[in-house]
Amino acid sequence: MAALQPVRGTHDYLPDDSRAHRAVEDTAREVAERFGFGEIITPIFEFTDVFARTLGDTSDIVTKEMYTFEDRSGDRLTLRPENTAGVARAFISGGLAQSVPVKLFYRGPMFRHERPQKGRLRQFHQVGVELLGVEGPLGDVDVISLGYQLLDALGLTGRSILHLNSLGDPESRQVYREALVAYLSGHKDKLSEDSLTRMDRNPLRILDSKDEGDREVVAGAPLLSDHLNATSRDFMERVTGGLTDLGIAFEYDPKLVRGLDYYCHTAFEFVTTDLGSQGTILAGGRYDGLVKQMGGPPTPGIGWAAGVERLAMLRGEDAVTAPRAIAMIPTGADVESEALKLADRLRRAGFTLDLGYSGNMGKRMKRANKINARAAIIVGSDELAQGTVAVRDLDSGDQETVALSALEAVLVRFR
Ligand code: ATP
Ligand code: MG
Repeated sequence: MAALQPVRGTHDYLPDDSRAHRAVEDTAREVAERFGFGEIITPIFEFTDVFARTLGDTSDIVTKEMYTFEDRSGDRLTLRPENTAGVARAFISGGLAQSVPVKLFYRGPMFRHERPQKGRLRQFHQVGVELLGVEGPLGDVDVISLGYQLLDALGLTGRSILHLNSLGDPESRQVYREALVAYLSGHKDKLSEDSLTRMDRNPLRILDSKDEGDREVVAGAPLLSDHLNATSRDFMERVTGGLTDLGIAFEYDPKLVRGLDYYCHTAFEFVTTDLGSQGTILAGGRYDGLVKQMGGPPTPGIGWAAGVERLAMLRGEDAVTAPRAIAMIPTGADVESEALKLADRLRRAGFTLDLGYSGNMGKRMKRANKINARAAIIVGSDELAQGTVAVRDLDSGDQETVALSALEAVLVRFR
């Protein structure tokens, strides 16, 4: 019954999972708002061209991972594999260039047809930010610092390290590209098929290859850092200077690339050693060429994206707990409607009330324990006649008689 299984690489998030998931998203949005980034919600599908043209036709995402389909009107659409292209599209089509700098936060599902494994899904979720219209390195510092503060808020700065590189300006990259191709041409016999096709169109991506043979060749390749011109070096120094001022530690990683042509200057990743080879938790860079390449006004940009599942997994299962409920326990059918009204009153006052719906008192008490309720309100007809109920602290077992009028005041300590 394949149809009754979730599609490979997709998951249902039951309440405990979704709570941990939402906590990451909410924290990210709060931190982003502290930096002045407002949320943008773009469609989860776009015209295929939005991704195909911007991610480049040699990238893994475009060649192997996109969910592309033709809809009933014959439009070629793609479920978004990432959201920078979608945000840039919205920036252009929404005429946002008038109001730069534009600071945007997003969250939501992304889709990639990858080989599923722990921390690698086909529908996964990202939180991310894009800063558009800022040319100088202060933008890079602010955006990286936003990522750092998010990891800090999640308690993860001690378990991850910032890797940083400069891809230089277009001039530096051109010079480097020639040096790299000259070097790689001497080792064609050892390069993978993929890398051979990348050689003409996007040789920088070979630096990022996971193929063994490629890696051996790459180990001896010239370094981009040796080909940076003065402008590029100065830019990099101002970024690292800003990070140092903020006390954000980083490791210089000369092999870190974002292979796409529109990336320049700063490239960075926060990496953890706790998730095996799925260790990149937050990755980004500067993409000054993107908006222009998509047909918009030349606009510099920088941003990052982080995988929500990986962040939630790193934090562990105990990081977020559900609020503990108060169980409403009528002792008999004659007081059920009073109990219901009382629950209604307390919920309106902001308390978390669990109704058992049926069963005798013993059964309802059992359920209260099973859901780890913090307290129980026991409603009996004699007590009600006197305007009271019993409130039991389920942690200590202590029970007291409480006047209906004082209920909210007494329950505050069980919130
Ligand atoms: P990787 O090297 O792990 O494939 P990537 O370079 O494809 O990562 P990006 O496109 O930069 O990743 O996406 C940013 C973040 O999104 C990643 O660091 C990761 O946390 C998360 N991510 C990417 N792909 C997946 C996936 N298939 N499942 C879960 N999370 C993912
Ligand atoms: Mg990938």
